[in-house]
Amino acid sequence: MKILVLNCGSSSLKYQLFDMQGEAVMAKGLVERIGIAGSRVKHVRVSGKDTIREGDIPDHTEAIKIVLGLLTGADTGVIASLGDISAVGHRVVHGGEKYAKSVMVDSSVIASIEECIYLAPLHNPANLAGIHAMQTSLPGVPNVAVFDTAFHQTMPPEAFLYGVPYKYYEKDKVRRYSFHGTSHMFVSGRAAEVLGRPIESLKIITCHLGNGSSLAAVDGGRCVDASMGMSTVPGIIMGTRSGDVDSAVALYLVEREGGAARASDILNKESGLLGISGLSSDLRDIESAAAEGNERACLAVNMLTRSVKKYIASYAAVMGGADAIAFTAGIGENSDSVRRDSLAGLEFMGVKIDEAKNKGLRGKEAVISSSDSRVKVMVIPTNEELMIARDTLKLTQKKA
Ligand code: ADP
Repeated sequence: MKILVLNCGSSSLKYQLFDMQGEAVMAKGLVERIGIAGSRVKHVRVSGKDTIREGDIPDHTEAIKIVLGLLTGADTGVIASLGDISAVGHRVVHGGEKYAKSVMVDSSVIASIEECIYLAPLHNPANLAGIHAMQTSLPGVPNVAVFDTAFHQTMPPEAFLYGVPYKYYEKDKVRRYSFHGTSHMFVSGRAAEVLGRPIESLKIITCHLGNGSSLAAVDGGRCVDASMGMSTVPGIIMGTRSGDVDSAVALYLVEREGGAARASDILNKESGLLGISGLSSDLRDIESAAAEGNERACLAVNMLTRSVKKYIASYAAVMGGADAIAFTAGIGENSDSVRRDSLAGLEFMGVKIDEAKNKGLRGKEAVISSSDSRVKVMVIPTNEELMIARDTLKLTQKKA
């Protein structure tokens, strides 16, 4: 069974085609600058040459037509015909309170995703564009929506409510949702497999550290707390997002900079590692500047590792301990110094890192704590696309 996984951004589209027998990726790619001059497609076959295609692509429907053409083309294809694609799995950013699990897409699901646009104004319309484009290009092929928010829906009210009047939750569903749920679910599940213990018996802290970052407390396989909020801004300091700030700071920016739209841009696009260092949002640039003694780059990294440490300790407190801490995503999988410095000082809660195992480890699954560490520390490369493909398979098989 072949499953296509789509992750549509406002001007981009990432895809992977899986052969679910063996869960192998057959082809993957990225379409950039959709609706902007200078569109570009990079199509990568696991066995075969890569293809680059340049030329303007006006919308997601056109982008998907091109992708489907590449997947079946004589020189670029990996399947004989579009009939080989059994189902399509879509990453959908916001499912609100309605979806704690993935679902088959029908008109009521589309209506619910539309209702959540006010909570994810950049992402949900793009995700919907992908769904509509697939319905047009592959009529009759089932679509499955896999929500970034779903895994976090098990948080108890004391974790997801803000201390503002309750009526805003009742009326407008103002609350913490948090994101990257598919990654936290995949990584916590894999951590339990690595430990060889049932996830129901484990307390796991998952640290998804990338351009966007979040941590989650996973108790017995259920998320009980997570660091992003109603938006993707809160939590630890990120590439360009501020992470937690006093709400008075946000209000001050609204007044000082002339409106909510500008303040939102500052908190989303000009803050974080970029805002503090004044150099870059990319940790690699910050780490090299810090190594050369750039003080603001050092400060940015120190703010990052301090905020990760605080979340780890607070999640251990919430769960009454931790059996494992798992690092994932671009920074979590690749930066040995961020892992080391985030954990420094957590010996009091049973965390002992083995620096020989940690140092130089990039993008590979491994346990990096010392053998006598009460808390196992791991690096687990995330695989959100595979998780989406698995859910899509499960739901479409159930229906068949
Ligand atoms: P996104 O949230 O866009 O998916 P990623 O998970 O790809 O982001 O993470 C991107 C971040 O990972 C960037 O800050 C990048 O600098 C960092 N990163 C990637 N490789 C390395 C590396 N070798 N060392 C340090 N940081 C890295």
